Amino acid sequence: MFLVKLYGNVVPYVKPPNLTLVKYEEIEEKSMNYHTFDPLNTNTISPILTCLTDIYKRYQPINEGNVATYIPELAKANPDLFGICITTPDGQIYQVGESQHSFTIQSISKPFVYGLALGDHGVEKIMSKVGVEPTGEAFNSIVFDEENNRPYNPMVNAGAIATTALIKGEGYEQRFNRILSMFEGFAGRSLTVDEAVFESERSTGHRNRAIAYLELNAGMLEGNLEEHLDLYFRQCSILVTAKDLAVMAATLANNGINPITQQQAVNPEEVRAILSVMASCGMYDFSGEWLYRIGLPAKSGVGGGIIAVLPGQFGIGTFSPLLDPRGNSVRGIKVCEELSQRFKFHLFDSHPVSQTCVSRTYTGAMVSSRRQRRAFQRDFLDQAGEKILVYELKGDLYFATLEKLTRQLQSNQQTAKFIVLDGRRVGNVNSSAITLLSEIKQWCLSQEITLMLTGFEPKTTVRLKANGWTDEGFVDNIDTALEWCENCLLAEQDYQDITVKDQLSLEEMDIFKAFTAEEMTAIAPLFSEVSYQPKDFIIREGEKSDRLFLLAKGMTTVSLQLSQTEQRKRLTTYIPGIAFGELALFDINVSQRTADIVADTEVICYVLEFDRLKTLLKTKPEVYIKLLQTFGKTLVNTIKRATLEIRSLSV
Ligand code: GLN
Repeated sequence: MFLVKLYGNVVPYVKPPNLTLVKYEEIEEKSMNYHTFDPLNTNTISPILTCLTDIYKRYQPINEGNVATYIPELAKANPDLFGICITTPDGQIYQVGESQHSFTIQSISKPFVYGLALGDHGVEKIMSKVGVEPTGEAFNSIVFDEENNRPYNPMVNAGAIATTALIKGEGYEQRFNRILSMFEGFAGRSLTVDEAVFESERSTGHRNRAIAYLELNAGMLEGNLEEHLDLYFRQCSILVTAKDLAVMAATLANNGINPITQQQAVNPEEVRAILSVMASCGMYDFSGEWLYRIGLPAKSGVGGGIIAVLPGQFGIGTFSPLLDPRGNSVRGIKVCEELSQRFKFHLFDSHPVSQTCVSRTYTGAMVSSRRQRRAFQRDFLDQAGEKILVYELKGDLYFATLEKLTRQLQSNQQTAKFIVLDGRRVGNVNSSAITLLSEIKQWCLSQEITLMLTGFEPKTTVRLKANGWTDEGFVDNIDTALEWCENCLLAEQDYQDITVKDQLSLEEMDIFKAFTAEEMTAIAPLFSEVSYQPKDFIIREGEKSDRLFLLAKGMTTVSLQLSQTEQRKRLTTYIPGIAFGELALFDINVSQRTADIVADTEVICYVLEFDRLKTLLKTKPEVYIKLLQTFGKTLVNTIKRATLEIRSLSV
């Protein structure tokens, strides 16, 4: 009744139906990771809490400033209350003091409602209605950007009222529910309104009402002005704690994803806009000095709260109702300043100069795929492998770290035909890295170099695909990448594997290259020809090793059953012309098979049972010795190659 008398046609306030957001409460109970200082419990003492407690104790005795009185209800605030909370993007909550005490959010609501308005209308429309220039004036000053006929920015009252006026919805109730749900998304729990503070400001907020009427008069505002004002007063009266503020700030630090509920509270594009206006205008006529001293996007409210955000790292919420003449919490500023100075949180504090993201490079001549090659292929790849360049990347990828890679690529552009980027040790990949990787791809295309990525996180792959990359740009693992490149090089030379062609004869096996026809006549009868169907096990792990195999036709894969899992790890693939199972030749009595060998295709092998060698030893000892020597030599070559690989990988 009182309000109606005072303002005439006021839209009656209808209490919004209670929102049942059970999931928030459930999450709060079960999975919040609180770190709260308890002097009686030494288990609660973490390095971060110790530091926050120290800061808390240092500033608690300060009683400079005054509680806000221009909203009568706020004058009742207890000036001693003081709470600090830091929340990380992975949901750790560090809190000291009265961080769970409820107070009204006041102006801290402004950047969040600005985000909602941006979502409702888009940047262009909002920019035409509310600017982004700091005023250098008090939060409640009556100044407008007359040139553009709009308030200067959404962080001062004039801009915030105009912003709230733009929130979409059918009528007061629906519009407020949208605002409240948005805040609940940020806080990760259901929130309520301090009705007393709301009524108190509604009945005394003449200055804000005057600002709104001036805006209406100038055409900066449209629609039901009293409804807009009620929404504005009501958004300012939402009850939060320092912990809520820290979670809300951490949501901004986490690209809009609430660290507790994992829900997207706001789009990342809006996060950037919100943080920008917070950085330039969030602390009113102290914004410039705040940025200079503390260097974090922030927002304060006359309820005594402050939020500050270090993007990607954490959000801070502080609460202390004693305000300085500009309406900013005295202790809150001191806490943020101290934290920023201790830890060098300032956004422009010296950053480490970027190192290269390349931890190691090698060529396909130094390291080869696990695929077995025939002797002539091996000889060829020992040279041609130079054309395959592998760059093992490490750490975070962003413009400056990748820029160093681009120069290395350029210096190798003459030799390279294939470039493989191994991303297994890569950390974060930011947007500029995605753009630069795409530029690298274009450059490779122009140089007729095939670029392949392997080992990158799926989310990076998704982002690259959104940037025009196709499936061909990605290979499952480094071995497959190397094998693919080798195959291309071999194909150019017409040195591919013989897979579908006819069966190789015994004489055509690599091992018998240096054997005479006469020697072969002695050897041939020892071998028997055995056929296998696809998926047949030729050798099983654990079996006794009593024979060796020469692959005459088809392909076989050596694989290991990884313990506990169903997965098999491919060690190598054999192709016609090569021998396998020959290790046992030098260790007949004790040897057990160490891996499975399975036919991939129809396979024909020449099999030599070791027992049969006894006859050869008796009848043709010189052929027997030559056979052993030849197998021995292939083993020596394998060891030499492995040593070379290990050396090139350990550089
Ligand atoms: N509701 C308050 C007002 O409009 C908010 C001001 C503030 O927190 N700085 O005056």
